[in-house]
Amino acid sequence: MTQQKDTFTWHNTVLTAEQRAEAKGQRPAVIWFTGLSASGKSTLANALEHALFERGHHTFLLDGDNVRHGLNKDLDLSPEGRQENIRRIGEVAKLFADAGLIVVTAFISPYRSDRRMVRELLKPGEFVEVHVHAPLEVCEKRDPKGLYAKARAGEIKGFTGIDAPYEVPEHAELVIDTSKNDVATCIQTLLDYLREKNILLR
Ligand code: ADP
Repeated sequence: MTQQKDTFTWHNTVLTAEQRAEAKGQRPAVIWFTGLSASGKSTLANALEHALFERGHHTFLLDGDNVRHGLNKDLDLSPEGRQENIRRIGEVAKLFADAGLIVVTAFISPYRSDRRMVRELLKPGEFVEVHVHAPLEVCEKRDPKGLYAKARAGEIKGFTGIDAPYEVPEHAELVIDTSKNDVATCIQTLLDYLREKNILLR
C-alpha cells in the first residue's frame, strides 16, 4: 500500500498577509492608542473599529482591561508587570497583523521603551502610534471608572499620572486631543490618516 506521504504533495501556503488584507481593501496595521487613563483610548478604539467594520474592513480590538482579565491576569502594575503586559500584547497584535487584520489597541502603555519594542516587532509602516491626549486635570475630572479617586485616596498604587510616570510619545504618528475635539472629529482624523498612508485602500 502506498504511504500517504508518497501520495500527497506538500503545498507551501502561498497566501501572504498582504493578499489576505487586500481582499478586505486594507493593509495590515496595528493602531496603537496610548495615553493617560480616561484620555479616551477605549472610546476611540471602539468607535474606530465600528467605523472600519461599517466600511467592510477586517479588524480586531485588544483592550487593556479585557486583556488583564485573561491572557495577562497574572501580571501586576509594577514596571516589570507593565513591560511583560505590553510584550505579550505586541506578540498577539503581530499575529493578527500577520493574518491581514487592522488591529486596534487601547493600553496606557506609559513607557517609551515598551512602545518601541512593539514597533520593532512589526514591519515598517505597520505600527501607527496614536497619542490620545487630554490634560491630567481633564482625565481626572472625567474619571469614568473612579480610578483617579481611588489612586488619590491611596487605594491604588502606581497609578499612571498620579504616582507613576507617563512618558509622552516623541514620534507618534498622530496626536489626538480629546479635550478639544469630539469623538466624531477624532475618528475623521484617524480615517483620513489611514487613507493617506494607504492602510485603507478604499
Ligand atoms: P481610556 O480608555 O483612555 O481609559 P475611556 O475611553 O475609557 O478612556 O474614557 C474616556 C472618557 O472621556 C469617556 O467617558 C468618554 O465619553 C469621554 N470623552 C469625551 N470626549 C472624548 C473624545 N473626544 N474622545 C474620547 N473620549 C471622550
